[in-house]
Amino acid sequence: MKILFLDQSGKTGGAELCLLDVAKPYRDRCLIGLLADGSFRELLEQQGIPVQVLTGQAIPVQKDSNLLKGLSSIGQLLPLIGRIAQLSRDYDVIYANTQKALVVGAIASLLANRPLVYHLHDIVSSDHFSTVNRTLIVSLANRFSSLVIANSHASADSFVAAGGNRDHVKVVYNGFDLKQYQHHADAAQMRQALSLGDRFVVGHFSRLSPWKGQHVLIEALTHCPDVTVLFVGDALFGEQDYVEQLHQQVEQMGISDRVRFLGFRSDIPQLMTMCDLVAHTSTAPEPFGRVIVEAMLCGTPIVAAAAGGVVELIENDKTGWLSPPGDALKLVDIIQQCQSQPEQATAIAHQAQQSASQRFNLETTNQQIAHLLQQVMSDRG
Ligand code: UDP
Repeated sequence: MKILFLDQSGKTGGAELCLLDVAKPYRDRCLIGLLADGSFRELLEQQGIPVQVLTGQAIPVQKDSNLLKGLSSIGQLLPLIGRIAQLSRDYDVIYANTQKALVVGAIASLLANRPLVYHLHDIVSSDHFSTVNRTLIVSLANRFSSLVIANSHASADSFVAAGGNRDHVKVVYNGFDLKQYQHHADAAQMRQALSLGDRFVVGHFSRLSPWKGQHVLIEALTHCPDVTVLFVGDALFGEQDYVEQLHQQVEQMGISDRVRFLGFRSDIPQLMTMCDLVAHTSTAPEPFGRVIVEAMLCGTPIVAAAAGGVVELIENDKTGWLSPPGDALKLVDIIQQCQSQPEQATAIAHQAQQSASQRFNLETTNQQIAHLLQQVMSDRG
């Protein structure tokens, strides 16, 4: 089967890393069309996956779009849609990986008479999308897609609650290449390189963005005097004000010596393995939370904000800890518990590692997706 994947982002976020893994088995018979240029294109090229940047123009559909903006942007999209329709004649299926990709992919699928699959990586709620965009997502998916692959039951349920057709949706969790997360014996070296000695280190792995809640962890840190925090990740979508605010918060609280901002990194498994605890602190429901599964696979204890897809990943007190979103004091309790009872934390992390290896194995999830795509093709006859 030949697949034309579409993704709106030039940046490497969770949806793009998932797409990279989904596309790998099709590398000799697929194309990833990007609606913007950036580091994700470079990553795909490094991995030998065919990629083309389809437009030099920014796509004028914003997460907070209103009807007027939406209507005025259709004209600007026409050349792009024409190009995708033309390209898709060489492929069996169009696979839209993001919302803007759905917009252009839906019309192209109609023009080129190709089935459309939409991989939903979002909670379709007012936390993340304007009313117009929620309506756009469900209307296009209902009308044009043969299949919606949701990355969690929480994402699937939000799609249905927004008016999406339940019969179109199948839940497939993100899969992970287990080898990448095993045996990072160089943790001690990594600690040395970062001059961390034997400090208790809490790692936070996420793009810097208000809803990812880095400020909640900084607040918690003021109550944990002997803990150091590493923030790994960058502001991918222009959240410079928030970055500034985080730096000010650290300074005002007088904890600059215990907080490091490492920026975007590609050595996530090594960094996670070196941490004593990974904290996830999103203040809005997380659609899936790749970083949570990655910490589990590394055998590092994880505490995560209990909302959205997260509660499908962690069993509280068995494979990690769940903390109410935005609750810095509960986070303090859990950090202190990990510090005072390291054996218990290690046992829980071990349990999590076993569970995650079984539930989020890339081979299995890619087989599920291949099977679903096959079904789409056979349903069309
Ligand atoms: N990530 C990365 N480098 C960084 C920070 C994050 O490669 O510096 C990766 C992280 O390992 C994870 C992904 O980015 O695989 C983020 O996915 P997640 O589902 O946690 O959040 P999203 O960005 O999709 O909201």
